[in-house]
Amino acid sequence: MINKYPVIVVPFLKVAGMALFPFILVSDKRYINDEVLIRHETIHLKQELELLIIPFYVLYALSYLVNLLVYRKHNKAYEQIFFELEAYAHEHNAGYLPNRKPWAWRKYIITKRLHL
Ligand SMILES: [Zn+2]
Repeated sequence: MINKYPVIVVPFLKVAGMALFPFILVSDKRYINDEVLIRHETIHLKQELELLIIPFYVLYALSYLVNLLVYRKHNKAYEQIFFELEAYAHEHNAGYLPNRKPWAWRKYIITKRLHL
């Protein structure tokens, strides 16, 4: 898999991976070659670029807060963030990134829900 974004190991990171444009942060060096995790975070980097970075984080936080009001549970609120829905839906699909259409996350705002 070709990943053009630099991966940085941040041992104190509370999650396995995080996209912080233009970097992918991982909490352990074993994740550097974790295709699924790197693909998931790369999808987020594409989303960030499409929204010129800062608005991505604002929308991400807003989506989380709305979900928290709806679901009243952190895990569910996180899983249903529409940026996460796109990333989780395609993180196992090696063919996804080369063929991904820009702004693909938009269709997850209302229409698509993971049933977790
Ligand atoms: Zn994610």
